[in-house]
Amino acid sequence: MLKGIGASDGIGIGRVMIIAEQSLEYTPKQITDVDAELERYRGAVDKFCDNTVEQANAIRQSTGDKEAEILEGHIAIIRDPFMGGEIENLIKANQCAEAAVDQICKMFIDMFSATGDDLTMQRAADVRDIRDGVIGILLGVQEVKISDAPAGTVLVVKELTPSMTAGIKKENIVGIVTETGSQTSHSAILARALEIPAVLSVQGAVTQLSTDELVIVDGAKGDVITAPSEEQVTEYTNKREAFLRERRELESFRGKVTAGADGIEYELFCNIGTPKDATKAVEADGEGVGLFRTEFLFMDRNQLPTEDEQFDAYKQASLILKGKPLIIRTLDIGGDKEIPYLGLAKEENPFMGFRAIRYCLKNRDMFKSQIKAILRASAFGDIRIMFPLITAVEELREGKALVEEAKADLKASGIAYDENIKVGVMTETAASGVIADLLAKEADFFSIGTNDLTGYTMAADRGNSDVGYLYSPMQPSVLRMIRRIIRCAAAENIPVGMCGEAAANPMMIPLLISFGLTEFSVSAPSVLRVRKNISKWTKAEADAIAEKVMAMTTEAEITAYLETII
Ligand code: PEP
Ligand code: MG
Repeated sequence: MLKGIGASDGIGIGRVMIIAEQSLEYTPKQITDVDAELERYRGAVDKFCDNTVEQANAIRQSTGDKEAEILEGHIAIIRDPFMGGEIENLIKANQCAEAAVDQICKMFIDMFSATGDDLTMQRAADVRDIRDGVIGILLGVQEVKISDAPAGTVLVVKELTPSMTAGIKKENIVGIVTETGSQTSHSAILARALEIPAVLSVQGAVTQLSTDELVIVDGAKGDVITAPSEEQVTEYTNKREAFLRERRELESFRGKVTAGADGIEYELFCNIGTPKDATKAVEADGEGVGLFRTEFLFMDRNQLPTEDEQFDAYKQASLILKGKPLIIRTLDIGGDKEIPYLGLAKEENPFMGFRAIRYCLKNRDMFKSQIKAILRASAFGDIRIMFPLITAVEELREGKALVEEAKADLKASGIAYDENIKVGVMTETAASGVIADLLAKEADFFSIGTNDLTGYTMAADRGNSDVGYLYSPMQPSVLRMIRRIIRCAAAENIPVGMCGEAAANPMMIPLLISFGLTEFSVSAPSVLRVRKNISKWTKAEADAIAEKVMAMTTEAEITAYLETII
């Protein structure tokens, strides 16, 4: 078996077709007729652009606009006056077109690759694709015809380029295996859009696999099973059918309202970490964002982001959501989330230390600049503020006072913001659960962070496998905590959501419905599955389940019972 990164879910069983790399070798030479060489270069670029338009149109038909835009981006890059100008300058200095294209593209590839940033590195793959395309045309190399691949083909290739993907006939290609790429590379995005199972970054795939051999591609696990036995083929054929059946069923929940079997409606939001993730939330059919973890803006850099940088990020996410709610959590650092340049002192017990809202309230300038950025963005959509790790009413009061101060500053400067912005509490500590009645009187909403709430209630670190047996939201103590928080919110008539992982757990869903949760916030890939799971239950059925569960005394008893009902 070969191992790689599972980049597009599903099972593919088929015969290998290896796409060998075309030789793009050329002998660099000095040219004498500069005008003729410039014409040859420009002709190749025109042809490259024509081919790309054709490929983009093919992708647009088979997959969609967004994927076609990836290819159309190649035209913008090669037509970029700076890049084109540099290439032409080399030709004018008597280099042949192949060498000029190669040299300038290499400069961009090196520059983009050096960033270490996934998205910018993706640009390097694009430029490589462009270089190979243009040099291929200059050399008159015939393009590989993936479109001729017969039904049941598993494509095996060093690097799947967007232009190659354009030739893929969805009905014939059952799997993709590459030697390069990551979850976020264009090939992964395209494979997912085409719904073809894909395993990327399989070391030596091109040399280890041979044409026509039978393989199984498991795009979820990242496995390529070679020489499968008859039993394995049967086992994976069944898995494949079950997967396709589920995919079809889940798709039938796209565009539907989120409602229980009795028609009671719920909100189903997504958790995001970057403004770009907001696009994923929309594509996943999320009805808003229930948790924007803003830490990303502060990580992987050497200094604090400015108010303007933050404003741009929050505004971008909000515009992508087109008026759907966006709950922005203020900076939640400390514990397992480190930001080296803040120079936080090493602590004996960081999870109980100087972190999140505690740190922010003591670093008011930094905190105020984040709050101002959020307020400014609130002029562009339905934005709400949420404070993490609240353990005492004073923290909420101080945070809210700072929001008022920030509003006054903005008003004095004539800057627009939402005067009625809602300020909520992330209930994720045992203390916030116990004083949920007090907090509910002063907060506009709650969102239950079960990842931390479980840890703080059980005094069990989520990252410590030795105490993992205690870390479960289905512990009687955690369930009581959750029920209490929801009841306290209901008593004060404020909405209550859940943004911890438990919101997507099918065993938890009937309990949450019974307790009275009004909003579920989950990762984008879970949206349709959660909507389906919610649709299974009436409130009355959920109440009957919850009544039984809340009478049980151990987590083992509770999970054993819940397993039988889902
Ligand atoms: C939580 O604690 O449940 C939560 C959603 O936040 P994080 O996982 O970022 O701590
Ligand atoms: Mg948390």
